[in-house]
Amino acid sequence: MILAVILINTICLCTALDDYTQVSYFIPPGPLSGRTAPLHSWFRPIRIHVHEVDLAHHLPDVSSQDLYRELISDGLDLIRQLLQVFPVSDTLKLEYDYSKLCENPLQSSVRLCGQKWSNVVVNEDCGVREGFQIPAEHMAEFRIYSSETEYTVDIPGGAGINDTDIVLYVSAKSLDYCNVQNAGILGFAKICKRDQFGRPIASFLNMCPDGFSSASKAKLKDTIFHEILHSMGFLGSSLNLFIQSCEITNRQLDCKFLSDYYTDSYRFPWHVLRDNSPSESDYRYEIKSTNALTAWQHHLGCDTAPDDGPVWSVHASPNPARQNPIPGDHWTWTSMMGSLMSPFVKEPYMQLLDNMTVSWFKDTGWYFVSDNLTQPLLWGKNSGCDFAHPVNYCQKVVNGELQDRFLCQQSGKSGCHYLHLHKGVCTPTESRVPMCRYYKPDPQGDCFTPRSVTDSLEEFCQECRCFVSSLHEVCVLPV
Ligand SMILES: [Zn+2]
Repeated sequence: MILAVILINTICLCTALDDYTQVSYFIPPGPLSGRTAPLHSWFRPIRIHVHEVDLAHHLPDVSSQDLYRELISDGLDLIRQLLQVFPVSDTLKLEYDYSKLCENPLQSSVRLCGQKWSNVVVNEDCGVREGFQIPAEHMAEFRIYSSETEYTVDIPGGAGINDTDIVLYVSAKSLDYCNVQNAGILGFAKICKRDQFGRPIASFLNMCPDGFSSASKAKLKDTIFHEILHSMGFLGSSLNLFIQSCEITNRQLDCKFLSDYYTDSYRFPWHVLRDNSPSESDYRYEIKSTNALTAWQHHLGCDTAPDDGPVWSVHASPNPARQNPIPGDHWTWTSMMGSLMSPFVKEPYMQLLDNMTVSWFKDTGWYFVSDNLTQPLLWGKNSGCDFAHPVNYCQKVVNGELQDRFLCQQSGKSGCHYLHLHKGVCTPTESRVPMCRYYKPDPQGDCFTPRSVTDSLEEFCQECRCFVSSLHEVCVLPV
């Protein structure tokens, strides 16, 4: 028997929000005293401004441009149904990165720069570094203060963007990651700027032009929606920016980060855990925030392990110094296969917007989130509390101690993918957890495309599904 020890590592509780834009939020007119309505009654559907970046140049085919715009528009329609925000009151203007530009803030406020670094390069490129810059007209002016009230304008500002809660820069450039061999990367999204409470207010979304031209419309639609959800904040970098609560103070919105509120790491919204066994070492993050935790336990039908949250991916292996790995930007494939926010975008009928993802957005504290778009996830459904510990759970399946509807025991064995739409071959779910195996769908093994076969009793039709049986053709000879 392999004994597993779960260690909870020390985590950094700092918010580390160095680069942010101070945004003014709309406070309803009139006296606030005696107001009993909760803050979320002031939330409004999010207003998203789309700014195309050289789209015609990088995607010259007009029908491809039209398709891209259509799919972005469809995705943003869903986001407007899903997410409401406290509305930005003034014209949205993005601030330069003070943490990089300013050598000496005034002592009275870190947001008042007293001196700029000499020879500093202004590079507001969202970290894309390949020819993209946030347009100057979207930026606020950068000031050098001689006192709290006197300043000179060092970099002039632009007009900003009206009626906007977030700007989405949309492009189709052949960036480096598009050309990584066999990676199959179709798109990518990144947050450029956050407000003072961590909410994304500017994001960059890129679709690889070659992949865009060859993928099906349905796959592009899901991929673009997946990337839009990243651009709204579904990233590892958001985990330490979850909001505990907001209130109105001096007619200003004031929100507290969970990480500022709690010093007790056990109440933090995420933990890094390590499963140790004689033959393996596996780190994982679990999301512990209230809504995601509750949704996960309800999904598993688990009410006896109140601390086991859904499993979040890791970006990198821990280094020899045993530091914690960097959080990834998705659920793990093994724990949340079928979620639109797992790392791989598959065929549309195989992925959906699950309750854990919707709950994750609720837990950020930035949004009022609708449940209307939530779809039921089948993977792991009612598998019980043990499913929350993939390494232990899979080991039991491999050892034959546990029968499971979703996982298989023997690599290479034929069977049915858990949705029963495809035949599959028992394959590791992820290379880092080789003992977790599922029947990976055979792309040519779908049951629902009608076709005739002559060498077996199999049938293929729109309503056909995959089942494993011991059906034999019996020839009965007349007596
Ligand atoms: Zn992703």
